[in-house]
Amino acid sequence: MLIENPVPWPNGARCAVAITFDLDVDSILHISHPNDADNYISIQSFLKYGAEISIPRICRVFKELDLRQTFFVPGWCVERYPRALKLILNGGHEIGHHGYLHESPNAQSAEDERYWFERALQAYRTCLGIRPRGFRAPLNEFSKNTLGYLIDAGIEYDSSLMGDDVPYLLTSRDRKQNVIEIPQCITMDDWPHFMHSWDLKYEMPISSPQRAREVFLSEFDAMWESGGLWMTVWHPFLTGRPARVKMLIEILEYMRSKGGLWFATLGEISDHVKECISNGSWSPRLDTLPYDESPIPELDRPRRRDVSPSQREVAS
Ligand SMILES: [Zn+2]
Repeated sequence: MLIENPVPWPNGARCAVAITFDLDVDSILHISHPNDADNYISIQSFLKYGAEISIPRICRVFKELDLRQTFFVPGWCVERYPRALKLILNGGHEIGHHGYLHESPNAQSAEDERYWFERALQAYRTCLGIRPRGFRAPLNEFSKNTLGYLIDAGIEYDSSLMGDDVPYLLTSRDRKQNVIEIPQCITMDDWPHFMHSWDLKYEMPISSPQRAREVFLSEFDAMWESGGLWMTVWHPFLTGRPARVKMLIEILEYMRSKGGLWFATLGEISDHVKECISNGSWSPRLDTLPYDESPIPELDRPRRRDVSPSQREVAS
């Protein structure tokens, strides 16, 4: 087996499948152009397509396929796009914490990171009446303080890191408490295939749906053979466009033809992992965070002393 410690998935499934979407909408424009985002109308319309056009389409497809999945949404988007959020919740899907304005946690001071984290929690509480069970750091930029904030807020799982093929536990060096990590992989992200915006400084060559599908399904075949987790990190304004929703439907048809799948929200995967740990049927790998308390000491080398020729002669 390629995976040393696969999770015993429910009903003997060979592979867990989670089609997660990150609904960032135009939060990423406002955070990257804080002084003049209001003057970038075309890119703003491109990003708003995700909430206005893609979410209704994706929710219809999920309903037809009887799927309930997880959407990570910044708190500001929850406040700004109530219709999209209502569709997601009415479909029985899960909402995860994804920052307030898609700010990068590791670009903030510890104090500012906590401020934005809690402001997002307030938005979920006020607008939706929920407290998210899971977190995905904007841009996956999880800081060395993030795990502590997740523990303090009672967040059960994170899905920002890439340290394994199956869920594992994050242990805080300070607080001695755990959060379940449901790991992702950049290979399963749609951004490298489909994101192209001069205004946001991403200029990837755009893949055809067939090319992206080939990458995503090569991951699936390996996970299916070895008992892993196949989880997408997709964005509605990219993968929610018609040709790519066709790709999503074809991928699901292929996967269902192989059988042995467990489709789940990340909250359900977290529940299942906790159950396996408590009944002793599976033991997770542990990662203690942060990996390093400071930049590694090897970088702190003394500056080379300038040695003149005459000094070299004396030394020799
Ligand atoms: Zn995002």
